Amino acid sequence: MTTATIPTYQNHIGGEWCDSASGVTFASTNPARESETLGYFQRSTPQDIDAAIRAAQAALPAWRATPAPERGEIILRAALLLEQRREDYARLLTREMGKVLKEARGDLQTAIDFGKFVGAAGRRAEGETVPSGIRDKICLTLREPLGVAGIITPWNFPLAIPAWKTFPALVAGNTVVLKPASDTPLLATKLVETLIDAGLPPGVLNLVTGPGGTLGDALVGDPRVAMISLTGSTEVGRHVAEICGRDLRRCALELGGKNAIIVMDDGNLDEAAAAAAWAGFGTTGQRCTATSRVIVHDAVVDAFNERLVALAKKQKLGEGLDPQIDMGPLVNRGRVSAVDAYMDVGKSAGARLSPGGRPARGGALDEGAFFEPTVFTDVTPDMRIAREEIFGPVVAVIPVAGYDEAIAVANSTEYGLSCAIFTENTRTAFRAMRDIQSGLIYINAGTTGAEPHLPFGGVKASGNGHRELGDTAIKEWSEVKTIFVSYPRV
Ligand code: NAD
Repeated sequence: MTTATIPTYQNHIGGEWCDSASGVTFASTNPARESETLGYFQRSTPQDIDAAIRAAQAALPAWRATPAPERGEIILRAALLLEQRREDYARLLTREMGKVLKEARGDLQTAIDFGKFVGAAGRRAEGETVPSGIRDKICLTLREPLGVAGIITPWNFPLAIPAWKTFPALVAGNTVVLKPASDTPLLATKLVETLIDAGLPPGVLNLVTGPGGTLGDALVGDPRVAMISLTGSTEVGRHVAEICGRDLRRCALELGGKNAIIVMDDGNLDEAAAAAAWAGFGTTGQRCTATSRVIVHDAVVDAFNERLVALAKKQKLGEGLDPQIDMGPLVNRGRVSAVDAYMDVGKSAGARLSPGGRPARGGALDEGAFFEPTVFTDVTPDMRIAREEIFGPVVAVIPVAGYDEAIAVANSTEYGLSCAIFTENTRTAFRAMRDIQSGLIYINAGTTGAEPHLPFGGVKASGNGHRELGDTAIKEWSEVKTIFVSYPRV
């Protein structure tokens, strides 16, 4: 693409596409081929955030007065439009973020399925009607919107995550300021375009692109914003929670993970290795639910390692638009350096590297941010590679003596997002469901995979107790009002 044909995208504020007050733009590039620029985006300032919040406030009274079923129908129409646009958007997503096309289609499909699910929730945003303990009285609850919502999203699910926050916030009657990650502003822009095409009134959804630090602080720190929803790193989550906590505003945080698969001596090793490879190397290890530890019973660890290493060696790297490719690039070169730094950390702690461990080079790979699929074996739970979120295609295998040790190791990190166990023993499976400290648990499957009609989220430092998706989504985005009605005879 020549410079002349590269489009410049704008913020969307108060129903208008507009330039930032800064007059400065930044480029979004293809991490598989960095010479390709997908577009220029507004490098916005706190002034733009202020304008977006004012627009969202102005649109709030009419939007909250719009019947919830009508609000839901707009979301449903957006889901149907996304279905029509799925292939185009999936290809853009692969080019902007790097994940292979079949995963990009999955990203779109999650947004579509959830849009259909939550669109219908406009007709069933339930409260309770319960008997009173007092004669001639009835009690009920109503759900009300919170107000202006600030939504801050990461780059690893560039369409699904903005959709699964924005859709329920809107159905619940809030107006929104959306700040997407700077690595993937294009897909967030496409989502906003789709919602506008579906009939969303001006000012109800506002988009501001640009740097997380300054824009994030401006959005999070503004008392006119009733709730912040952030998906991102635990470090940024802590910062956001502190700011919201000072003036008691609600914030929903979906944060990092150090997800484990436990493989028991009676587990199916072929299935477990295939699951570890898919959950460890899929999306180049950049899913929040990616498997980055495999905790394996001593009795089967050699047989398991052999299988996992073979699968790691088979991964074909390249640009994800090619259907032959298994693993795309990391999202940018900075991430390559960050993942690479963990290689020495692991080796110097005594872990054995086999295979991988380097930025992937040669031919077309030189043009992008590629890293080899990597397996560390002989890892112990105290090593940093077993405790810290690496967010790349790196799997650490930790041998253990049995079930109790496996559970203790699985629970030993600060995170608690997703965990899996492979066992053929039903009793072991049920004990694991009870014993694992994690928001998501998988039995005989890898640590990834959400279904839009089920709650999604983590415990400990992986979140702050909120759940996205499922029936919980509308509840997240609304306030409960309890009403007591007395009707004694007069
Ligand atoms: P990040 O924390 O760097 O950024 C997330 C978002 O926060 C971006 O939009 C960024 O611009 C913004 N941001 C940065 N500084 C900010 C600040 N001071 N105030 C407010 N916002 C700020 O995370 P990332 O690198 O984009 O995403 C990867 C992380 O997200 C990983 O830790 C991953 O585990 C996590 N994640 C979690 C889930 C989940 O559901 N639990 C899902 C996807 C990703």
